[in-house]
Amino acid sequence: MDEHLHRRTKGLLQITEMVPPEIYNELGEKAWDAIHPELVSLVCQIKDFFKDKQVIINTWASSTSDQRKYGYFTERGYRNPESTTGAKNSAHKKGKAFDFDVWEGSRRIDSDNVRKQLMNHLYLFPSLKAMEIKVNWTHLDIMFDQSLRSGQIAGEVYLFDTHGFCGSIPKTSPRTPITGGI
Ligand SMILES: [Zn+2]
Repeated sequence: MDEHLHRRTKGLLQITEMVPPEIYNELGEKAWDAIHPELVSLVCQIKDFFKDKQVIINTWASSTSDQRKYGYFTERGYRNPESTTGAKNSAHKKGKAFDFDVWEGSRRIDSDNVRKQLMNHLYLFPSLKAMEIKVNWTHLDIMFDQSLRSGQIAGEVYLFDTHGFCGSIPKTSPRTPITGGI
C-alpha cells in the first residue's frame, strides 16, 4: 500500500477485506486500484463509526477461528464483473459497494439495528449514495446512476430492495444540542 493510501485508511482497512482471493493473488496491493477512492473513505468512516465493535467484510484472509465465528466471505467488496453473485449491474462490480456485519464481542448486531444507527447519522458519510434494506447484512454503496436507479435524488440516500426503489432519505445535519435549562 502506498503511503498516501495508508494515511487515508489509517491502517483501518486491508485490501484483502475488499477484493476476492483471485484478484488479490493476481494483483497484490495493486488491487486497491479496483476500489473507488470514495468507497475507501466510506469504509474507513464506517469502521471509525463502529470503532469499539468489529466490522466484518471479507474474511477469506482471516484466521480459521475468525472464519468459523463470522462466516467465510469473498465477494463483499469488489466483485468480478463475471461473478454470478448479486445483481448484474451491481455497484460491487464497479468497486463502489461493500457488505458487512457488525459484531460486538460474541454477538452479531441485527442489520436492521445497524441501518437504524446509520440512518440517524447520515451526515457523517458524505459519499454514501445508497443502502439496501430487508437483507440480513448491511450493503452500502456510492453509486449515483439515475438510469439504473429511477428515484435516486442527489444529496440523499437511495433505499432499495431486490425489487428496486423503496425511498430516499436526506442527509440532515445533527440537531444542535440544547444545553442549559429552559
Ligand atoms: Zn451488497
